[in-house]
Amino acid sequence: APRIAVMTSGGDSAGMNAAVRAVAKSAILRGCQAWVVREGWEGLVRGNAEGEEESTDGDATPPHPEPETLPPSVAQPPGTSEARRWRGTYGQGELLREGVGEAEELGLKGKYILRVGWDDVRGWMDQGGTLIGTARCAAFREVAGRQRAARNLISCGIDALVVCGGDGSLTGADRLRAEWPELVAALLERGEISAEQAQRHRHLKIVGLVGSIDNDMATTDMTIGAATALARICEAVDSISSTAASHSRAFVVEVMGRHCGWLALMAGIATGADYVFLPERPPPGDWRADMCGVLARHREMGKRKTIVIVAEGALARDLTPISPDDIKAVLAERLGLDTRVTTLGHTQRGGKPVAADRVLATLQGVEAVEALLEATPETPSYVIGIRENKITRIELMHAVQQTQLVAQRIEKQDFDGALALRDSEFAE
Ligand code: ATP
Repeated sequence: APRIAVMTSGGDSAGMNAAVRAVAKSAILRGCQAWVVREGWEGLVRGNAEGEEESTDGDATPPHPEPETLPPSVAQPPGTSEARRWRGTYGQGELLREGVGEAEELGLKGKYILRVGWDDVRGWMDQGGTLIGTARCAAFREVAGRQRAARNLISCGIDALVVCGGDGSLTGADRLRAEWPELVAALLERGEISAEQAQRHRHLKIVGLVGSIDNDMATTDMTIGAATALARICEAVDSISSTAASHSRAFVVEVMGRHCGWLALMAGIATGADYVFLPERPPPGDWRADMCGVLARHREMGKRKTIVIVAEGALARDLTPISPDDIKAVLAERLGLDTRVTTLGHTQRGGKPVAADRVLATLQGVEAVEALLEATPETPSYVIGIRENKITRIELMHAVQQTQLVAQRIEKQDFDGALALRDSEFAE
């Protein structure tokens, strides 16, 4: 049976657990073994301390079990292949309760690549963050690190990988696949893998899922976690609004998004903010004069509160960054407003995924497994997206390159061009 591993990498986002659950469960339903890699690329580079290779332990199940056979009887003796498939090694939500990272009593210390069963990912749908952990990994940027990652994948017998992360993580995935034949040849030459293993692992299949609160990937309408982050921001701005109105104050609210203004723009619309600063659409002319003109007009019309939302990557037309404190100073000096700054910070990342992220992650996780099962050495690596409400497959490097082009256009002050790229309709 093919062995499909799933990992989360880069910044966490709500819905990553739902994606891992969907990949694991659909892999099992399609007759594959499901594996997880803890702690992103870092875990893949570290591998399993004992270098333990999982036995093939039978794999006797038919590739497409009938739905009525699910879930299987829990009466199966533990340790059998069938029990591992369904109950998992840990089972009954232990991974969830113990937290994958610290679960020494589950024998996870020094073990980063684990086989999971149906029950191991039970209850993951509504959990925030990523239970299998995520990390940034400098070693994976070097060939030596990717070689260790390749060896660890091979020693666990894994031939297909789903990576859920941002454009950096997906670039890493693409590199791993592109270099794969050379990595395997080098490992064979050094005697780290057998000729049989080298033959069996000639190719690596990779599919990406975009997990990012920023919604910053070109070619897809939504990324996993963006809807939840937006909901968190709206809740926070609603709370701020009532106190702002009580005291007739102004609030400058900084939201995340890195170089992407999607969260700021959508939060501005959803909360009826007075003014929004984005990286892709700097205010016309002098931003101070423009903002004060708008806000003064709103006040003259009787508004008791002023809400300004600023994306963390906000820029002026000349590309100088605009910070919340800059804005506060202008509001206080020019308009005489009692102004407070609120940086929402990590509350935006946390908490339960909203329904839209659970659905997106689940549909995309299922599609990722389908794409892996259909992949051949000739097909490109895909990233799973969504456009006009349909789940799509986009060539991974095309999606990453289009995303990087956005930043380049902003650097050239080609703001319309940057926005056109952000809008997936124009992305191809
Ligand atoms: P986020 O958008 O949340 O920051 P990201 O996936 O873009 O997510 P990065 O920190 O850029 O986050 O990348 C995560 C990891 O992916 C890095 O720590 C590194 O291990 C790997 N990676 C990134 N870029 C490359 C690259 N060019 N080559 C190899 N590995 C890379």
